[in-house]
Amino acid sequence: MAWQGGGWDLEILVTGYPGKAVEHGGLGWSTVVLLRGHGRIVVLDGGGYGLRKPLVAALAARGVAPGDVTDLLLSHAHHDHAVNWPLFRQARIGIGRKELAWALGVPWGETSVPEHAIEALSRWPTLRLMDDGEEVLPGITAHLAPGHTPGHLIFVIAGDGQDCVLLQDAVKNRVELTTRRTDMTYDAAVSRATIDMVWEICRRRPGCLLIPGHDLPMVVENGVARAIGRHTAGIRAWFGESLDDMTRFDLAPEQTP
Ligand SMILES: [Zn+2]
Repeated sequence: MAWQGGGWDLEILVTGYPGKAVEHGGLGWSTVVLLRGHGRIVVLDGGGYGLRKPLVAALAARGVAPGDVTDLLLSHAHHDHAVNWPLFRQARIGIGRKELAWALGVPWGETSVPEHAIEALSRWPTLRLMDDGEEVLPGITAHLAPGHTPGHLIFVIAGDGQDCVLLQDAVKNRVELTTRRTDMTYDAAVSRATIDMVWEICRRRPGCLLIPGHDLPMVVENGVARAIGRHTAGIRAWFGESLDDMTRFDLAPEQTP
């Protein structure tokens, strides 16, 4: 999916997936966004370890090497969003000031924070801390959006006719947006206030584009969120007698005509 606005060309490199494993915890299949404009190449989050190869391939398909990226924006400090910052270590790396302070203070081994990666990030020379309300790049404003984590930031891109909001896990999927109820929140009321804020942002200008952390992008028109595109996801597994014999499990929902 591609979008243009405010001097930025936006592409979704990886579309997040709105699901969890039945017995093996969170999948962590999260959204990664590429923004090009104003002489900069910006990546939002970077997925988990398993995404390194597909992410580099998705960038290469667009003529971008990891070393070309000038700015990495991190929405929050969970492993499926923040652990791949070393791929873009020469870039300016932005994370919320409040988020980093929180992530450095969590007890080891108890949260989804990749403790070592965040500790190393806190000492990295190109790290830049971002604050609520700050214009972090031309026309892109960070907003504190707590609930999933205390210092989670969302990013609002002021477009030409339509604004775009990079939600990541402040609103992980369409069901959370429409019901204003959330899974994996430290405080449901805090998450709900964040989702109320997102709806308020969407009321300002028509046709708001929302990009959640674990779902398809959506356009909001007249208070209704409509998903754009379709999911493609699956698993291949070795249950046979040869390496070439793989069983494929399609994880995309049935198409509704
Ligand atoms: Zn996530």
